[in-house]
Amino acid sequence: MTQPLPVLVQTPAHSQVAGTLSYLSELALPAGTLVRVPLGRRETLGIVWDAASQGQAEVETSRLRPIATALTALPPLSAAWRQLVDFAASYYQRAAGEIALAALPPQLRELSSEQLARRLKRTAAETAPSATEQAPTLTPEQQTVLAQIEAQAGPFLLFGATGSGKTEVYLRCVQALLERDPEAQAMVMVPEINLTPQLESRFAARFGAEVVVSLHSGMTNPQRLKSWLAAHSGAARIVLGTRMAVFASMPKLRLIVVDEEHDPSYKQQEGARYSARDLAIYRGRLEGAKVILGSATPSLESWHHSRPVAEGGRYVRLLMPSRVGDGGALPLVRRVDMNHQPKHAVFSPPLLEALKGRIAKSEQSMVFLNRRGYAPVLHCNDCEWKSECPHCSAFRVFHKLDRTLRCHHCGFTERVPRACPSCGSPDIRPMGRGTEKLEEHLAELLADVQRPDGQPVRIVRIDADTTKLKGELEAQLAQVHSGEVDVLVGTQMIAKGHDFRRITLVAAANPDSALFSSDFRAPERLFSLLMQAAGRAGRDAGISAQSEMWVQTQHPTHPLYENLKKHDYPGFAAQQLKEREQAGLPPYSFQALVRAEARTQETAQAFLNAASTFGTEAAASLNVTLYPAVPMSVQRVANVERAQMLIESPSRAALQRFLAGWHDTLHAVRQGPEGKGLIRWAVDVDPLTI
Ligand code: ADP
Ligand code: ZN
Ligand code: ZN
Repeated sequence: MTQPLPVLVQTPAHSQVAGTLSYLSELALPAGTLVRVPLGRRETLGIVWDAASQGQAEVETSRLRPIATALTALPPLSAAWRQLVDFAASYYQRAAGEIALAALPPQLRELSSEQLARRLKRTAAETAPSATEQAPTLTPEQQTVLAQIEAQAGPFLLFGATGSGKTEVYLRCVQALLERDPEAQAMVMVPEINLTPQLESRFAARFGAEVVVSLHSGMTNPQRLKSWLAAHSGAARIVLGTRMAVFASMPKLRLIVVDEEHDPSYKQQEGARYSARDLAIYRGRLEGAKVILGSATPSLESWHHSRPVAEGGRYVRLLMPSRVGDGGALPLVRRVDMNHQPKHAVFSPPLLEALKGRIAKSEQSMVFLNRRGYAPVLHCNDCEWKSECPHCSAFRVFHKLDRTLRCHHCGFTERVPRACPSCGSPDIRPMGRGTEKLEEHLAELLADVQRPDGQPVRIVRIDADTTKLKGELEAQLAQVHSGEVDVLVGTQMIAKGHDFRRITLVAAANPDSALFSSDFRAPERLFSLLMQAAGRAGRDAGISAQSEMWVQTQHPTHPLYENLKKHDYPGFAAQQLKEREQAGLPPYSFQALVRAEARTQETAQAFLNAASTFGTEAAASLNVTLYPAVPMSVQRVANVERAQMLIESPSRAALQRFLAGWHDTLHAVRQGPEGKGLIRWAVDVDPLTI
């Protein structure tokens, strides 16, 4: 007796087959079973899906093709997992098949059921947690917070200063869970791949390496399969990972931690643009798992959600304001008014003196600047030529080391010309500065300075250019940790997360531009970056008393810096939220963007405007505002013109209803005359950059 079964497969991003396809099966396979099915001429991985979500027309059974293989060696994916996928698909306006299949390890497409059975058996062999490390005595703040987490359902927002011991709180929550429930699983997410090794070693030291696995995109396919099988079978009790881990199959998931929850990396920036932090909250509710978001500078959304219940708050706010250890004071923030410093000074004299002072005491410093390369523009002193990218509406950046002009948007690279390509003048000069120039300049300024041991000062630069090859970042970080480096120069990459114990001075070379950005989230990101950077200084209680955070600025009395000086995140948040409320911006409204790309700006905008026209009526009835299509801030990249359209509503539900109804319209417009010449389009729900 064969029967038709709905199977979810990966379909092209915007194909109309958003639901499932029907296949015949002789066995009544339960939903969640992994299968291989014929699709066109190839065979593809699929998942038996729930009948209810079947979104396509009935096909005569006689015309259906049979399932090729059922991977019955693997337990089916759980109902909660399938619901998570269905929710993410409808919320972020993508096909469920795309989201589901992207969450599975690629090797599931290749191995036979027997091969998978053997691998599964191997993962199951190793299970029991084995503590190898003595846990420290908790601080009173940690104790209070743990008691609160124990007593309430959450979700929780753990607002804890950098170095307040948040990771220790996560470790204890996991420990309590594993002790209470011999099968329970926990998930801990961090924003960046390069933070996972540090985290993995802490969890492995506490619980034993056998029960901890990692899941991130930097792993090889066999590693990914191994971790996934361990999580899926329940053998792994703790799954650590980046945003993709939110879709890990974990049958006994009871706790989800999202560390550094404010970090924009939790939002996927291509394909299905999901927020792993927001999905973690949803998944927690689905699975009955506690969710803990942690940060020293929470996103304003999470901060707003954790306001008092009486004011409508939904998260429980937990506080750990103090750093661990005696004298674990926060660094002193010093603002240098660059209006009163020598013109064009990269390092103001007081900052330079301070750096020398640290070197004399064998302490480390860190200087960051949010721009890599030597100089952002090369320009001709005789004519108006600038190093524009011929393919993008952006300048190519001057990289001195290999003497190239490189476009950071499309990658177009050329040798630096000897003379101005426009007028032939040899007088072409770099304008502005990047980390490469900062490093060079600092080396000149410190050329005559010696370390106490008589050796020359050692400067190391860490940014995307110095860490392109595998292992380079680790090697450079190891140099810093071992004390070989006196001054670390880099982009924001170095300001985040790393536990540098010997750094006592952190300096932001030139952070002002974010104060006046057109992106309403720029101040939030800057404040968070500076607080995180300040948190790098003086992590060792013994030296934290003298640690300093320097900010070179033209606007020393700006409220953002005033709040930074006081380490006052709540003050900063209150001021920002007030502005957002007055302007009707998130979290007081909800947004989505439709982006369109075409060879001409007119074509891209025509598509958006047509879609808008067809949506006007529905938008008005739902209290949704459709803004006119505009060029994106970097309008052209790799010869493709880009436009976007903002959609806004005071109600998340209304916005969702509008988008759901509008979906077919967008597809129809794409097929019609206004879609002619369009290269691609995509919806971004809850976008982080506008
Ligand atoms: P956060 O994640 O809040 O920045 P961590 O959890 O990394 O802070 O803790 C900072 C440092 O303090 C770490 O080296 C950690 O081992 C240590 N630490 C945390 N809790 C305690 C404690 N209760 N007693 C002693 N040391 C602790
Ligand atoms: Zn010229
Ligand atoms: Zn370019």
